[in-house]
Amino acid sequence: MVSPSIYGALARPTLGHLDPEFVRMMEEVKVMLRQVFQTQNDMTFPISGTGSAGMEFCCANLIEPGDEVIIGVNGVFGTRMCDVAERCGAKVTKVEATWGRIIEPQQIAEALQKVSKPKFVAIVHAETSTGALTPLEEISRLTHDAGALFLVDAVTSLGGCPVRVDAWGIDAIYSGTQKCLSCPPGLSPVSLSANALQAARTRKTKVQSWYLDVNLLSSYWGQERVYHHTAPINMNYALHEALRLVLIEGLEARFERHQSMHHALRDGLSALGLEIVSQAGHQLWQLNAVGVPAGIDEAGLRKRLLVDFGIEVGAGLGPLKGKIIRVGLMGETASRGNVDRFLAALRTCLGK
Ligand SMILES: *Cc1c(COP(=O)(O)O)cnc(C)c1O
Repeated sequence: MVSPSIYGALARPTLGHLDPEFVRMMEEVKVMLRQVFQTQNDMTFPISGTGSAGMEFCCANLIEPGDEVIIGVNGVFGTRMCDVAERCGAKVTKVEATWGRIIEPQQIAEALQKVSKPKFVAIVHAETSTGALTPLEEISRLTHDAGALFLVDAVTSLGGCPVRVDAWGIDAIYSGTQKCLSCPPGLSPVSLSANALQAARTRKTKVQSWYLDVNLLSSYWGQERVYHHTAPINMNYALHEALRLVLIEGLEARFERHQSMHHALRDGLSALGLEIVSQAGHQLWQLNAVGVPAGIDEAGLRKRLLVDFGIEVGAGLGPLKGKIIRVGLMGETASRGNVDRFLAALRTCLGK
């Protein structure tokens, strides 16, 4: 769900991409993004494109052909990142976990023993396809000890649970507007540490993607204001408003709201004899992977929720297809009213 004031922001008159008023707004977006990412990184701004564009931005800027990288794969988005990295010319070492489980630091330590000079280690913080939240601090320490950069997918985590870019030593991170920032899709907030930026600045080869080259983008989003591509003006208005709402609520209060709605859902499910099936102790608050009992037609259940109750939930993907439904409680959607409405609808569908 998107807040009405964000729709209001989208509908404001479109300014030019170098209009002083818009430039002032770009600066405010950068300042607010730093607060939400909990970073001092100068290079913090929104990429024009959805979350996958942020993934591609990080890979394209950091990878030179032949570079070795290590990527944690425990769901759809780790799998996608391997594909993106390979297309950038990387030699990818996959560190895999069963879908629904986290990537363990020990697995990364073992991969770092095998790979001689990894450019980066990448982790999907919140795996939206499975509902697992991989802790980052220990993996970050191992990564830096091996002299590699640490890349994080925070598309679903940002704005829904703690993401501390500086405290956790994250070098490159990307997110998206339509998950816990509760804004329509279209921009991908990113942040690069000084070390990541240095790696992009001192490459021997040009960044393969002209559109996503940070060396070019920084002259538009930095102080020079040189035209690169036309910023999606109204989407930036929307992000500006979304970030303002996040900061008015306060990060800690927002995280607590997501946590308590997850608990309310979990308790209500358990009263119906259902449970969240991602790894215990590492379950996402904002994306709940609910096990579908044997004998229940999962696709039929989702269809009935949508058609009869106007509630859309996600299907299980890959090995979890047919076995789970994915219930998002992200941003505006994470409310008591929505949890209660969903539980009541589910009770009816299951004939309880
Ligand atoms: C949604 C998502 C993406 C991709 O974002 P798009 O906006 O669909 O391009 C990447 N990673 C994770 C973890 C996601 O949840």
